[in-house]
Amino acid sequence: MANATEDGRYIVWLDIDNTLYSSNAKIADAMGQRIHAYFVSLGLRDEEASELHSKYYTQYGLALRGLVRHHEIDALDFDRRCDGSLPLEDMIKPDPSIRQLLEDIDTSKARIWGLTNAYHTHARRVLHILQLEDLFEGLVYCNYADPNFTCKPEPEFFTTALTKAGVADPSKCLFVDDSRNNVQAARRLDWGSCVHFCEGSEKGIATSSNENREITISCLEELRNVWPQIFKSTDK
Ligand SMILES: [Mg+2]
Repeated sequence: MANATEDGRYIVWLDIDNTLYSSNAKIADAMGQRIHAYFVSLGLRDEEASELHSKYYTQYGLALRGLVRHHEIDALDFDRRCDGSLPLEDMIKPDPSIRQLLEDIDTSKARIWGLTNAYHTHARRVLHILQLEDLFEGLVYCNYADPNFTCKPEPEFFTTALTKAGVADPSKCLFVDDSRNNVQAARRLDWGSCVHFCEGSEKGIATSSNENREITISCLEELRNVWPQIFKSTDK
């Protein structure tokens, strides 16, 4: 069987949370409240909980990563009580312009994959609610069931993603994420194009680029200009 890497196509890696829906949905806040409650349930006082939550998030890119490393916790229980309890159906809704954007990617030129720090249950639920699920060929998620799971921005997470998608050449990877740390991590691994989605920033600085330098966009539509090589041609 031909290796997927050898078909020469690009692979678009899309972060999910706060990238495929607006941060105005306040899901991060709702997650934060649940994570805080979880820390408190471990016996921490309020201030300690806030401090540790922020420390782990900063240090590991994911509060749960620190919890698993430094406390005896069941990551799947954490996921059920945090992400799993979010009333997502009331918080996000499909955006036809995002669906159109992804549909306009020429699948003979690029494959679309999700790259998320969430567990697959949350990621799939979000994609389902946003009505984007069918446009994704694959999903690389944090495997909370594995006590040694990795997550963005750890380099191992990105290299494992390449293996899972059958990609040998990192320059074929086009990546967008709302976390600058994650974008910088992918750049260090020579991913072809690493785009920081900075929603609401006054102006994106999306310009043509042949290097893997960081590009900032304020709206996903700008990807049409940043990655013109993967979109269906608009003339005729
Ligand atoms: Mg995100």
